[in-house]
Amino acid sequence: MIIPKEPKLTKEQLNEVSEIAAEYNCNIKPIEGHHRTIYALLGEEREAIMINRIMGLDYIDRFDAIDSPYKLMDIHSELANHKIVIGGHIMGEAPFIIAGQCTIDPNNPNYFLETAHAVKEAGAKALRGGVWKPRTMPYAFQGDDRSISILVEAREQTGLPIDTEVMDEHQLEIALEAEVDILQIGTRNALNYSLLKKIGEKTANTSMKVLLKRTRAMGPVNELVAAAEYIVAGGNPNVMLCPRGTIPQMEGYRNNPDESITPLLKEKTWAPVVVDPSHSVGRAKYVPGAALAAMAYGADGLIIESHIDPKHGIGDDPKQALTPEVLAKLIKDAQTIWDIARDEKVFA
Ligand code: PEP
Ligand code: MN
Repeated sequence: MIIPKEPKLTKEQLNEVSEIAAEYNCNIKPIEGHHRTIYALLGEEREAIMINRIMGLDYIDRFDAIDSPYKLMDIHSELANHKIVIGGHIMGEAPFIIAGQCTIDPNNPNYFLETAHAVKEAGAKALRGGVWKPRTMPYAFQGDDRSISILVEAREQTGLPIDTEVMDEHQLEIALEAEVDILQIGTRNALNYSLLKKIGEKTANTSMKVLLKRTRAMGPVNELVAAAEYIVAGGNPNVMLCPRGTIPQMEGYRNNPDESITPLLKEKTWAPVVVDPSHSVGRAKYVPGAALAAMAYGADGLIIESHIDPKHGIGDDPKQALTPEVLAKLIKDAQTIWDIARDEKVFA
């Protein structure tokens, strides 16, 4: 990884570095952060002569040959200094709560718009709404392109940044055009490397964030970090990791709650962790407990399904969504646990 002295290389400097790298069969990939751009070297970056030549350029500050399978996601990467800012919220400085419906009902937009105002009132910092849905059965409602305009309308009315899941390139193009603030990659696609690469490339040099969920089948946390590396290596360093439960082990929970991997992720990588308790436990009555546990484990945020009238929701909302009243209490409690978890005197 190449770190220039100035925040960014000029076009001529980038050409010069790229030409040296090409002689050693390496490519340079600029990764644009909030304050500075770093330059990933894709290829065999341990070639001593190449490193010496690049280090010899007077506009280069440092060359970090990180000894890690994930050069960019690693906690020792230069990107550890990169701040992710969403709608004015700096990740890591206060709990970041994304809330809203599992699924937008294109035939009843008012439910979503009212939910949007209600979750804002409850203290949420961003709004989720499923435009397209990955459903177990092909006959279930799959979402609808029309719902994107309802999501955008809700952003206009509330001023909250918006989050939605994309599963293919058609949906990605629509989400890009709508300038969705957070692209969600769900559990079904977290190992779809060609989609992850494409998303990294298409969102490079934009302010779009990517919320990458853990797949149901993932074992070692390294697999999640490596999947995120595809997005960052594609050019977008604004990645957040989302434990959302793995294959169910216990009767009663939809998935096996996995908020406890948060500190393990934080030892390996700088990426913020936003836990999804709704899909892990899968029942509204268990969600607050799992959410507060995630806060105690040091999560930076939560993504929670909420609906003004869950029984009239579609997708997961009838069973999983919290009412705005319950959400409001949970957000207050989350702040309390956040403060305790970060009080060094307690955990020293
Ligand atoms: C969702 O967020 O509604 C969803 C389908 O999530 P997951 O990919 O975690 O199942
Ligand atoms: Mn859902």
